[in-house]
Amino acid sequence: MNILVINAGSSSLKYQLFDMDTETVLAKGLCERIGLDGHLKHTPLVGDKVVYNEDIELKDHSVAIAAVIDKLVSAEYGVVSSMSEIDAVGHRVVHGGEMFNESTLITAEVMKAIEDCIPLAPLHNPANITGIKACQEVMGEDVPQIAVFDTAFHQTMPEKAYMYAIPYSYYKNDKIRRYGFHGTSHRYVAAKAAELMGKPAEDIKIVTCHMGNGSSICAVDGGKSVDTSMGFTPLAGLPMGTRCGDIDAGIMEYIMNKYDVNIKDMMNILNKKSGMVGVSELSSDFRDLGDAKDNDQAQLALDMFCYSVAKTVGSYVVAMGGVDAIIFTAGVGENSRSVRAAVCKYLKAIGAVMDEDKNNACRGEADIATDDSAVRLWVIPTNEELVIARDAKVIVSK
Ligand code: AMP
Repeated sequence: MNILVINAGSSSLKYQLFDMDTETVLAKGLCERIGLDGHLKHTPLVGDKVVYNEDIELKDHSVAIAAVIDKLVSAEYGVVSSMSEIDAVGHRVVHGGEMFNESTLITAEVMKAIEDCIPLAPLHNPANITGIKACQEVMGEDVPQIAVFDTAFHQTMPEKAYMYAIPYSYYKNDKIRRYGFHGTSHRYVAAKAAELMGKPAEDIKIVTCHMGNGSSICAVDGGKSVDTSMGFTPLAGLPMGTRCGDIDAGIMEYIMNKYDVNIKDMMNILNKKSGMVGVSELSSDFRDLGDAKDNDQAQLALDMFCYSVAKTVGSYVVAMGGVDAIIFTAGVGENSRSVRAAVCKYLKAIGAVMDEDKNNACRGEADIATDDSAVRLWVIPTNEELVIARDAKVIVSK
């Protein structure tokens, strides 16, 4: 069974085509600047086909999907012989609100529910919907489309973890609550950790640290998310590449009044000009910060990030009443030895002891805790696309 995985943004579209009998990626690629001048990079990963990397007119998402399929089936760049060899499409959908606690086959009713969640994710859900509609248009209604939600995994959080201490009517009338994001990634690495540790997921407590450009932490108790650091929006929790994370809401009023900043510009500051780039005044990229050893502000930004990660992990250990393993994943978690080491320095307090040699030698999947550490420390590369393809396969097979 071949499954196409689509992650549609407002002007971009990432894709991977999986052979789900072997769980191998047949091809992957990226459409950029959709609606502008357009560019498509398509990389076949099997056979002797060549990479396609060209500026190409992509006036909308339907044209982009058609261009992707054209490459997937072409003699020169293709990996399947016709569109009929694509059995289903799995879509990343950012917000499923309280409606969806698992992945689902997209019907007219589901489409309406995803549209109803637009106010909760005004930048992301419209793009995801455009991607779904484009696939339906180009591939026809008979090819099943499956939605996999970033928020779904966190729907198991208890009320005390997802409610905000603001007037209850905002929850009742407007559904203002913590939703959490990166659910697909947290779910994947938590399940993988249980598998690697040879223990049933139901029997263990895990804290997963997704540390990338956007970062979030999740407390996974018995395979279920019981708390997470992102909130109503992905702005909450840790300081990130360009996002501020948790701040005192009073700061907004102070800045807006003092500098005559309107709410739109204020949100732009908090989403795009804060976090690592805001504090360092250098870069949002963790590699640049790590390289800038003599730059105090760059080092301060990194210190703030690692401190915040450790503090959140500690709070989740208390929330769960213990922890068996802590997982590091995503761009920074998988690749930055120094960030892992700085976070783990704090974690000694909860009995998690990192082995420096194992941390330095780590490539891909590895347990980097000392043999006698009371808590395991795992680095596990995330694979959100594979989860989307697996969910789509399960749903289609039903
Ligand atoms: P992601 O959003 O998961 O793609 O992660 C992107 C972040 O990972 C960027 O800030 C990169 O700087 C960071 N990253 C990737 N490779 C490394 C590395 N070798 N060392 C430190 N940070 C890295």
